Amino acid sequence: MEEVYKPIWVSIVGNVLLALLKLAVGFLYSSIALIADGVHSLSDVVTSVIGYAGIRISSKPPDRSHPFGHARFEPLVAFLIGEILLIISYEIGRDSIYRIIGGGAIDVNALMLGVTVLSILAKEAMFRYSVHIGRKLDSQILIADAYHHRSDSLSSLAVLVGLGVQEELRRDKTQTDS
Ligand SMILES: [Zn+2]
Repeated sequence: MEEVYKPIWVSIVGNVLLALLKLAVGFLYSSIALIADGVHSLSDVVTSVIGYAGIRISSKPPDRSHPFGHARFEPLVAFLIGEILLIISYEIGRDSIYRIIGGGAIDVNALMLGVTVLSILAKEAMFRYSVHIGRKLDSQILIADAYHHRSDSLSSLAVLVGLGVQEELRRDKTQTDS
């Protein structure tokens, strides 16, 4: 496999696994935060597939209808990934604020915290790998996908904070109740 495709595959496989894990644990404990994060991971798979297609198209040799090659597709796809990232970041930011203010009364357990911490670490590793290969091969698409991973890592951090706040609220409530 060409080196440029490796981070994209890591991203697709990694996100599918993270999505399954988050959805499974999320549904098991009825955690909206984890389910939402799992759905987000599924949407990340779509972004990475777009990135994969973008790299394929932009690396195609010139043909009759594109005599200068297809390299101009690359900034376009990188831009598209950036736009998707912007929309998702906005929605996550908004949801996190609602979640912290609203503070749903659900039990937070070690498994839920563990999945979230795992997600933060996995995404940070995916960021570093993608950005490393992206800079080395000068691939704007890989760099865009990398920064998406970093933002996901931060959004999972927000989920972790949200879960922590929920747990604190629950403890307070239990103390006042007794
Ligand atoms: Zn994402």
